[in-house]
Amino acid sequence: MKIGILGGGQLAGLLAQAITQTEDTLIVLDPSEQCPAALMGASQIIGSPSSEQDIRIFAKQVDVLTVELENINTEALIKLEAEGVSIIPSAKTLATIKDKLLQKHSLFEAGIPACEYFSNKQKSVNSLEDLGWPLVQKSRTGGYDGRGVLILRDVSSRLDLLPEPSYFEAFVPDAIELAVMVARNKEGEEATWEPTRLEFDKNQNVLKTLYCPPSLPKTIMRQAKQISIGAVRALNGIGLFGVELFLTKDNRLLINEVAPRAHNSGHHSIESSETSQFLQQYNILRSKPLTPTRSKCSAVMFNLLGEPGFVGRTVIEGIDEIDKFKNVFVHLYEKFHCSPHRKMGHITVTGETLSIAKQLAEEIRSLISVRGENQI
Ligand code: ADP
Repeated sequence: MKIGILGGGQLAGLLAQAITQTEDTLIVLDPSEQCPAALMGASQIIGSPSSEQDIRIFAKQVDVLTVELENINTEALIKLEAEGVSIIPSAKTLATIKDKLLQKHSLFEAGIPACEYFSNKQKSVNSLEDLGWPLVQKSRTGGYDGRGVLILRDVSSRLDLLPEPSYFEAFVPDAIELAVMVARNKEGEEATWEPTRLEFDKNQNVLKTLYCPPSLPKTIMRQAKQISIGAVRALNGIGLFGVELFLTKDNRLLINEVAPRAHNSGHHSIESSETSQFLQQYNILRSKPLTPTRSKCSAVMFNLLGEPGFVGRTVIEGIDEIDKFKNVFVHLYEKFHCSPHRKMGHITVTGETLSIAKQLAEEIRSLISVRGENQI
């Protein structure tokens, strides 16, 4: 079977690696020659996930289509699905999730807890003032890694700084950020992995470190899974989903957003779960039953981000030394070019307990660096 994926970044690349043992192949549609996924083992067709024509040509060559990014031409997918192309998640689900405001509205209508929000059309409160200050302004589409998200401090803040259509939501102060991966297939089988705790680089808004399972009460862990499954059901989601949540200071869980694809917060599952997020995604695409997602050990995952101050051909230092350690798993995304804060790879460190994994992860982090060859 030929599985087609729109986008050829590391998420497609890691899926390609996961399915090398099977008789199936993964083909990516990506505009850049030798995209990361192609270098990580996928076949590639050059083309744009935003172009209807390119998607049409691509769809003819695969048996099932999925995505590794939200910013795709969902209008084209809606037409193709009506013409009989198999798309997982469905084009309608992808279209709703792509527009953060529609996504939020669907969750609100289904009674899923999320931050209050306001726009001229869809809203959970009557006026912008009801959200209080500070508040958060978000682009409806196209944002990622914090691009398209602004925190507005007070009434004097300008509301017109985002170039695209946007909406507003209440600011959640001092929240702990969690994520839950959810798998759901056409037969109605559902699975989640253990919730993870995410620590972001606040300036760059890139995930820095992930802890699994985090030290949180069992009730919170259980609720996080339940709410996340509820969110995916509310979006009629079939496929693999990354659900990001806030745990508020008064212990309430709110959905931040849902991604219709493999997610950075599920990478540790390659080593720490009985079934990784990528193999489960494959199960769903292939109409196979879901397989167990039980956790085998604790894990800390950190992203290898391009060092600030350097740009150019990728230079990696410290890999040989890391090779000597047990329970340390290095994944490199084969990107030729490195710029500050670019995601170049990730490392998962496993351990019998979270504190063992944490300690080793800190040691490993200090040994490795990834940067461009030229100083800026
Ligand atoms: P992206 O899709 O770009 O990752 P998010 O909506 O996840 O955008 O927002 C990026 C980050 O901004 C979040 O991880 C969180 O740290 C912060 N953030 C987003 N929404 C809120 C909110 N309502 N209150 C507080 N912080 C928020």
